[in-house]
Amino acid sequence: MSDVITASEQAISLENDHGAHNYQPLPVVLAKGEGVFLWDVEGKRYYDFLSAYSAVNQGHCHPRIVKALQEQAETLTLTSRAFYNNVLGLYEKYLTEYFAFDKVLPMNTGVEAVETALKISRKWGYERKGIPENQAKIIVAENNFHGRTTTVVSFSNDENARRNFGPYTPGFIRVPYNDIDALETALTNNPETAAFLVEPIQGEAGVFTPAEDYLSKVASLCKKHQVLLIADEIQTGIARTGSLLAVCGNCTCEGHCERQSTYIRPDILILGKALSGGFLPVSAVLADDPIMSVIQPGQHGSTFGGNPLGAKVAMAALEVIKDERLAQNARLLGHIFRTRMQRIVEKSPLVQEVRGKGLLNAIVIHSPSSSSVAWNICLALRDNGLLAKPTHGNIIRFAPPLVMTEEQLLECCDIIESTILNFQVQQKNEIDGQ
Ligand SMILES: *Cc1c(COP(=O)(O)O)cnc(C)c1O
Repeated sequence: MSDVITASEQAISLENDHGAHNYQPLPVVLAKGEGVFLWDVEGKRYYDFLSAYSAVNQGHCHPRIVKALQEQAETLTLTSRAFYNNVLGLYEKYLTEYFAFDKVLPMNTGVEAVETALKISRKWGYERKGIPENQAKIIVAENNFHGRTTTVVSFSNDENARRNFGPYTPGFIRVPYNDIDALETALTNNPETAAFLVEPIQGEAGVFTPAEDYLSKVASLCKKHQVLLIADEIQTGIARTGSLLAVCGNCTCEGHCERQSTYIRPDILILGKALSGGFLPVSAVLADDPIMSVIQPGQHGSTFGGNPLGAKVAMAALEVIKDERLAQNARLLGHIFRTRMQRIVEKSPLVQEVRGKGLLNAIVIHSPSSSSVAWNICLALRDNGLLAKPTHGNIIRFAPPLVMTEEQLLECCDIIESTILNFQVQQKNEIDGQ
């Protein structure tokens, strides 16, 4: 067998035969990416409307990030934290100034950063708030997605993600998302609560945007009950929703947050995904000194966390966000996109709703979430040159790279519209023909 895969079926059967079946990919085999485009092994070009779950906000293979990666890869890649290196400090200064926090704790994958935030919160709870030993609680939201470790799936309510992975880590309380009264009750009934962990918009659950004032009310409740507010912005952060962070609300500043009135400052901010522009697993936990100082040498760490290669890549990735004004672009294109999708909602009984913020959007397909209609629409979109993936059965998430132009976006809206309208006709013909 040749070492180069040139046919889709070959790649798919290799993965099927030799890889664990922990994903169900859409059948398309990608070989190349550039900006908003992907190419399959047969050379067909697609618009990417997933951006690797918002890790590729800066577009595929962004040349500035490639350059940073190449230069650092030839110089120094990993020292471990047993020694200092000449990049990490610069990165930590850059990142903390960029997001306006005192300190950062660098990790790799998103879920590691979530775990880190949970550990910091528990330790803070015992050492600063005075919670009795081993009594700390952390409140989370229903339908959350924070990753895949044993602890993190312990507080998921997605049965598929949880079942038969027990026994589960105790100490978590789940409240409905976007329900401020439920949070208040939970806080009042559980004085040993250390933190509330929340996604400012629930991405995996199907792009659920809470009420406009939800997060500000959450923040004041947390303050009142002396509970840390942890914002998981792994998917929503880094310009995706039309501002640097989703917690920035409608603040349109690029890069450094100017703390306008809409900004809800979390006590702990979790970043990942687009922090590296899709090059390497780079995640980060940001907090101010009174919180971060609970972690002392030997108490937490990671061999690769803060490696100079990832640090250089992340700095380049964040420069691109600011210099190319990607938050502004996401905001502008997001409005256009939802307006166009709304037209489809009005024209097509297949599409029930469009929702989202910036370029993190979803349409809800009018079908039971167990049906394969959304999947089949994604196959039709693929055939028409656009890649998207259903989440939770009947919801299709649309999250293109933020470097998209208005012209490209309009072309994509045309593809989506004609695909859905044609799909409907086909479905009808199938039913009539039966
Ligand atoms: C993707 C994601 C994670 C997990 O990140 P990994 O890098 O896959 O571990 C956690 N939280 C949110 C909100 C995410 O979207």
